[in-house]
Amino acid sequence: MTKIYYDTEFHEQGPDSPIDLISIGMVTEHGSELYAVSSEFDQNAVRANPWLVENVWPSLPTYKHPKGVRCACGPGHLDRAHPDVRSRPQIARMVQRFITAVPDPVLVAYYGSYDHVVLAQLWGRMADMPEGVPMWTWDIRQEMHCLGVDELPRQEEGQHNALADARHNKVMDDYLTGVRLRRGL
Ligand SMILES: [Mg+2]
Ligand SMILES: [Zn+2]
Repeated sequence: MTKIYYDTEFHEQGPDSPIDLISIGMVTEHGSELYAVSSEFDQNAVRANPWLVENVWPSLPTYKHPKGVRCACGPGHLDRAHPDVRSRPQIARMVQRFITAVPDPVLVAYYGSYDHVVLAQLWGRMADMPEGVPMWTWDIRQEMHCLGVDELPRQEEGQHNALADARHNKVMDDYLTGVRLRRGL
C-alpha cells in the first residue's frame, strides 16, 4: 500500500452547479509531489466569494492588470501562463500518472468527501474513472472519530494552498498512526 495525501481547493454553490476545481495538491508517503491550478475555474465566481478571495486566491498564481487599464477584477487575474496552471484534461492526465506510478495507491484526505468528488469529476462520471485510480478516499477525519482523537497537529502555514494542505494531511495521518501504534492497533 502507498498512501497518497491530497487536497483540493474548489468553488461550490450547492446542488445546482458543479463543484469547480481550483487547485489540487498531492504528496505520496515517500515525498513525491504534484501541484496544479485549473485554468478553467470560473474566476468571476471565485472573485465574488469573499472567503475564497481571502483564503484561496492569495496562493494562486495571479497578476494585477496593468496600471491605467480599466478593470473590475479586484484581486487580479489568474496567470494562465504560469507553469502550475493547466487545463482540466492536463490535470486529469497528471493526476492519473501520479497515482498509478505507485504500487497499491490509497488516497487520503481530510474531510475528504468533497475532495473525492472533485478528483473523480476530472474524468467525468464515476464510471469514467480510469483503471488504477481508487474509487474511494480514506478520510483522516473519520480516523480521528474512530480513535476518539479530538486534536491533531496544527498547520503552521500555507492553509488553503492545496499542496501545503496535502503535506499537512501527511503530518496529521502520521500522528494518528502513532496513536494507533501506541495502542497496539
Ligand atoms: Mg485545502
Ligand atoms: Zn484586472
